[in-house]
Amino acid sequence: MKLLEGKITVVTGATRGIGREIAEEFARQGATVIFTYRSSVEKAKELEDTLTGYGATAESYQVDAGDLEGIQKMADEIFAKYGQVDAIVNNAGITQDNLLLRMTEEQWESVIQTNLNSIFYMTKAFLKNMLRKRTGSFINISSVVGITGNAGQANYAASKAGMIGFTKSLAKEVGSRNIRANVVAPGFIATEMTDALPEKELEKWLTNIPLKRPGNTKDVADLCVFLASDMSAYITGQVLNVDGGMVMN
Ligand code: NAP
Repeated sequence: MKLLEGKITVVTGATRGIGREIAEEFARQGATVIFTYRSSVEKAKELEDTLTGYGATAESYQVDAGDLEGIQKMADEIFAKYGQVDAIVNNAGITQDNLLLRMTEEQWESVIQTNLNSIFYMTKAFLKNMLRKRTGSFINISSVVGITGNAGQANYAASKAGMIGFTKSLAKEVGSRNIRANVVAPGFIATEMTDALPEKELEKWLTNIPLKRPGNTKDVADLCVFLASDMSAYITGQVLNVDGGMVMN
């Protein structure tokens, strides 16, 4: 049985890493997948082909997660074409690491804009129509760093912690209309984002993971499938860690 048969889903930042795996897994589970990206045009085309190869309907939008107008336009087009949206994964995210004393205003603002303001924009753009349909699941990809903090990542940790407060508030506001909102907090997941880490930093992370391995993108995608599916119908306002046990709340 396919868990997302007939569902219309939107995934931001899906041309590589975790977002790509979520898009692929959603397609394999029978969903229509509309995904966004910022700059990787070739990779987006290739992903569309891969998704349609699974038998899914797939479409991509080149729209910056921090561009409210662009997102509103996309949302209007999606509702006009598909009539409803069942699940939204806010995955697009960046890092601009620096110790606080050296962190520039630009590094602070670009991370807050892409990681946090984008959640507000996406929710604003899609919520009204979802409320009318009385169905929908928001899945916001945060990070364990938003729970624990991390030296050199004050901007990133603030953006990821902000997503948690935002999501819980949203869950409280829209629960009565059958709209759910949850946070997925990945730990150390092997992607291009983490490839950039120095060897020593990598060892430090692994020491603190009870399951003694980095996560893979499918570990995160599987949880997103669950949250987008009707199997999670009574779960809202939660922060679910996918981190091999690294952070125990
Ligand atoms: P990644 O490999 O760097 O991929 C990021 C994706 O987001 C790319 O497809 C990129 O598209 C897109 N993107 C970046 N900025 C964008 C923008 N302004 N507008 C639209 N799309 C944008 O990242 P990842 O490691 O898969 O991480 C995905 C999410 O998981 C992020 O939110 C990250 O914070 C979170 N996370 C990751 C880890 C980890 O260990 N990897 C751990 C915890 C949380 P373009 O190529 O077109 O720019």
